[in-house]
Amino acid sequence: MNQRIFLSPPHMSGHEMKYIQEAFDQNWVAPIGPNVDQFEKELAEYLGVRYVAALASGTAAIHLALINLGVGQDDEVLVTSLTFSASVNPIVYQKAIPVFIDSEEKTWNMCPVMLRKAIEDRLSKGKKPKAIIPVHLYGIVAEIDEILKIANEFEIPVIEDAAESLGSKFHNKQTGTFGDMGVFSFNGNKIITTSGGGALCSDNEQYIRNARFLATQARDNFPWYHHSHIGYNYRMSNVVAGIGRGQLSVLDERVLQRRKIFEFYKELFSQVQGISVSSEPENAFSNRWLSCILIHPEKTFGKTPAGLIEVLEKENIEARHIWKPMHTQPVFENYPAYMNGTSERIFEQGVCLPSGSAMTQKELARIEEVLRNYFNI
Ligand SMILES: *Cc1c(COP(=O)(O)O)cnc(C)c1O
Repeated sequence: MNQRIFLSPPHMSGHEMKYIQEAFDQNWVAPIGPNVDQFEKELAEYLGVRYVAALASGTAAIHLALINLGVGQDDEVLVTSLTFSASVNPIVYQKAIPVFIDSEEKTWNMCPVMLRKAIEDRLSKGKKPKAIIPVHLYGIVAEIDEILKIANEFEIPVIEDAAESLGSKFHNKQTGTFGDMGVFSFNGNKIITTSGGGALCSDNEQYIRNARFLATQARDNFPWYHHSHIGYNYRMSNVVAGIGRGQLSVLDERVLQRRKIFEFYKELFSQVQGISVSSEPENAFSNRWLSCILIHPEKTFGKTPAGLIEVLEKENIEARHIWKPMHTQPVFENYPAYMNGTSERIFEQGVCLPSGSAMTQKELARIEEVLRNYFNI
């Protein structure tokens, strides 16, 4: 059997062990230390943002962002429906109410028209949403300027979920730096990884200071352990931050590698009727974290995402369905949702193809052969 081609496996640079060794040599094997401080500094520089808190996960970052905004019981938070569940779970941790917003055609991300409709409807019901969480799904930049315009008009803060879009830019400005706070993930499948980890960024020092405080069990400044807030154990380990420093040094290279893989698919599928790839919005630069396609059933004569995933799996190649919209998930289906049908259609037609930056020409050729056979290219 051929070796498995994974969807998006970790891709080490060779620089990681140096920082890990330093952590061991100095005995900073703890959720505090020089790698954590340096990783925060280097990430802030890369992003062009003033403050970063290195955390245990992207989910923790979203949770702390919501706490920073005072989101609590029965508060409403507007969030993209077409996303990973981690964008939504922290809203429920706070006993708040997720209100789902559908996608728009071009970027697959939060639809500004539906966002405005939702805000006006919630206001008419006497509830002002406490936050908006747009997501840059698969690294594709959302209509962030439109979303910010609406957020400013109604004075609702924005938490940008950039977990999948590290390195993506709009008008040359990094995603995650447009909202009041931005969230990143360094899970094993993301464009760079620390094995598991996340970060919260902001130009507002108070938000980041408070995130660090809450992430280390909310210890007040007393000679003994003294607590006036409920804390969390959400800080990034100094060992893990060492991996992050090594990975960050090759991030731009990883973005270019992923973009090349996307170009490979785009070129191949330009020869097939009924397959479309997601486009890059004007003035946006995508990290192309995952390359995704839509299969239009009426133009491809019975080809389906499930069919394609199955033939790839037979050759030991991993592909996946697009995220199943959150408003259709059993845990979330009773929450309010403002829908136009787009996210459900993208789910029905969408496939994520192998996109790992370490893929070899030989592996790409294996994928190409399956795709050519399945689609008669
Ligand atoms: C991965 C991801 C997260 C969560 O990050 P973790 O580090 O896995 O907790 C949040 N939102 C989106 C869109 C993601 O893809």
